Amino acid sequence: MKKISVIVPMYNEEEVVQECYNRLTTIMQGTFYNYELIMINDGSHDETLPKLQRIAEKDKHIKVVSFSRNFGHQIAVTAGIDYAQGDALIIIDADMQDPPELMPQMIGLWEQGYEVVYAKRKKRQGETWFKKMTAACFYRVLNRLASVHIPVDTGDFRLIDQKVADQLRRLSEHHRFIRGLVSWTGYRQTAITYERDERFAGETKYPLKKMLTLAGDGIFSFSDKPLQWVLYMGMLFFTISICLLVLGIIASISGWSGTLAIWLICTMFFFGSTLLLALGIMGQYVLRIHKESRGRPLYIVDKKMNVDSYETEPYYQPVEKML
Ligand code: UDP
Ligand code: MG
Repeated sequence: MKKISVIVPMYNEEEVVQECYNRLTTIMQGTFYNYELIMINDGSHDETLPKLQRIAEKDKHIKVVSFSRNFGHQIAVTAGIDYAQGDALIIIDADMQDPPELMPQMIGLWEQGYEVVYAKRKKRQGETWFKKMTAACFYRVLNRLASVHIPVDTGDFRLIDQKVADQLRRLSEHHRFIRGLVSWTGYRQTAITYERDERFAGETKYPLKKMLTLAGDGIFSFSDKPLQWVLYMGMLFFTISICLLVLGIIASISGWSGTLAIWLICTMFFFGSTLLLALGIMGQYVLRIHKESRGRPLYIVDKKMNVDSYETEPYYQPVEKML
């Protein structure tokens, strides 16, 4: 019998743990597939872990992987992929904003031969206009900049085949933008559309800072265009400065110097700030090189439940397996 792994990252989700488990279990038991629910506790400070542990004691379908601290949503999903043993993997949020009732439809498309089935949001409910607007802008900007096609309005709620998961396991980058990485792997991909519900309970675990980091990872890990802009900017401003020089010479010959001082101050500020902007953009890329060069592991697992075999330990895999 084929096996489906459902991956659920959780950060301070004590209010939704039980509901999430109930709904996922009901759906998976209705599909006649073998299944496992991999719950990643991303360093929660609340009752998430004890609640998960209690569920896992009773139900061996539940695997719990608990981090030593909060490593972030994308890393939690990565760990889920590392530990999954299914023929297909489904990534879903714990808050039930992405309706698990879509999972059988995803599995159906997978059985038809699609290796990636992603869910595209038609509507988002219960989210602020600020979040909707920034998200809509971000996906469109990313779509124009990225070197691979990253579909707009899709989150991480998706099904991926074991083959895709195997490729993702080979990617060790720290600044992860999983939906981009999945696009990067290629394969046959298709979409289903849905309306995103409200959170079942609790508050968003994605404050503005985390949202900006994710957006940065999307853009800087999938596009070299900002670097090219720096070059074009440099070329443009060099040309402008030559023109200004000519203007300056003419002005000093004709004795027209009063307004020129203001002009000079303006251009000084202008060039100064664009220089900083250029440095900032380059900094984003340098920062990523720096992070990668340290070679630290992506996450640290503190506790595990119902996860047994040596095979699934991502950091202790024999080297041959990684090649
Ligand atoms: N999450 C996580 N680590 C974090 C932040 C979030 O594992 O540092 C999980 C969270 O528990 C949820 C999913 O990622 O299952 C999506 O988070 P959330 O629903 O808060 O994001 P939103 O839907 O508001 O964008
Ligand atoms: Mg949510």
